[in-house]
Amino acid sequence: QASTATLGNDAISSDAINHDAIDNDYVRQLDRRHVFHSWSAQATLDPLVIAGGSGCRVWDYAGKEYLDFSSQLVNTNIGHQHPKVIAAIQAQAGALATVAPAHANLARGEAAKRILARAPQGFEKVFFTNAGADANENAIRMARAYTGRDKILSAYRSYHGNTGAAIAATGDPRRIPNEFARGHAHFFNPYLYRSDFWAGDEQQECERALQHLQRVIECEGPGAIAAILLESVPGTAGVLIPPKGYLEGVRRLADHYGILLIFDEVMAGFGRTGRWFAFEHFGVSPDLIVFAKGVNSGYVPAGGVIVSAPICRHFDDQMFYGGLTYSGHPLAMAAIVASLDAMAEEGIVDNADRVGNGALAKGLSQLASDHAIIGETRGVGVFHALELVSDRTSRAPLPGAEMAKIKRALIDKGLLPFVVENRIHVTPPCIVNEAEVAQGLAILDEVLGAAS
Ligand code: PLP
Repeated sequence: QASTATLGNDAISSDAINHDAIDNDYVRQLDRRHVFHSWSAQATLDPLVIAGGSGCRVWDYAGKEYLDFSSQLVNTNIGHQHPKVIAAIQAQAGALATVAPAHANLARGEAAKRILARAPQGFEKVFFTNAGADANENAIRMARAYTGRDKILSAYRSYHGNTGAAIAATGDPRRIPNEFARGHAHFFNPYLYRSDFWAGDEQQECERALQHLQRVIECEGPGAIAAILLESVPGTAGVLIPPKGYLEGVRRLADHYGILLIFDEVMAGFGRTGRWFAFEHFGVSPDLIVFAKGVNSGYVPAGGVIVSAPICRHFDDQMFYGGLTYSGHPLAMAAIVASLDAMAEEGIVDNADRVGNGALAKGLSQLASDHAIIGETRGVGVFHALELVSDRTSRAPLPGAEMAKIKRALIDKGLLPFVVENRIHVTPPCIVNEAEVAQGLAILDEVLGAAS
């Protein structure tokens, strides 16, 4: 073995890694030399080194611990290293580590059965993908094939993934690399704090957003629109809880014009809002449900589309032109089965409801009344955002440089946040307890107090 961890091609052999010699510096340098990161200019990166984790915590090689209030990319709903999920992945790897999608496999069938058990009445089958973006791709493709129509309507304040149709459907400015995508149109979804409709309250916001959507449908041509694709609770765009009546109104419009409704539950699903699916809060059911992340907390990449009966019937005698080599990968499926069983047995979704809507929501409201830098706090379950402003009256977003300092200070004090634009998204795992919430809130209080 090498006596110390060294960089360079000479270290590439199976026995060259001396694990006792690995430290933060080595891993950081290895990363900066060889890894091309997503969503980044490469030269200025200084990624945090993560060596291990358990529950709501992760740590580096020097033993510094971080409370993970990001859940990584809002996906480790069950927390890090859940023993039952790790054991299930290991057992499946021992029995069969890969299998083509065309074969019948026990883990895949059991995973689909469990997912359907959580879906509303009328959903029949699960199409598996590797992640959230390709799940949206396939939901869009199903909707187009089913309706024979082309256009997909989606919200400006949304994120649906970074592949062809998914990034074209995404409404935030990051879709710009795909501005040539055809068959996509956007509409403004409700966001009362920065209302696009000059609304004064939730009810006005809801009514005007629905009138606007109807106008967009009529202008785009209802007969050309295959589906409305909507995050039930837009996440990356700011945890924008839809006003009462909005999703019901969207469902009514979709039905009126014969348009399918797709709910993207990739971030909001599987416990994040304190329910199995976020749309349960609103009593509305879509035609297709897109999921990923929390279904197995990302232990092995997985996503998919839950398909309602009429769409299943359509494909009974029509080819569905879609598939991926790793669809329903057995390790991912074993992780789904174990995750969903553990979440049910251990009351993890109820915990997200109780702790998230209790200690966490109360504590964040208290922070908002203590610190003028917080313009608004909003959220449900373990899915919250603090919107930071430089001035409460004008609601001017806190500039990026200030946000970067706050993020740095939070990390230095041992809290991993999910920071997007001028917002701190507070999204701990669904297993978070009151003591961990108190610790995270104390760090937020200290850092926001110093920044105010
Ligand atoms: N849809 C939503 C709502 C998301 O939040 C994300 C990722 O954050 C995606 C889709 C894309 O998922 P993935 O990154 O797994 O492709």
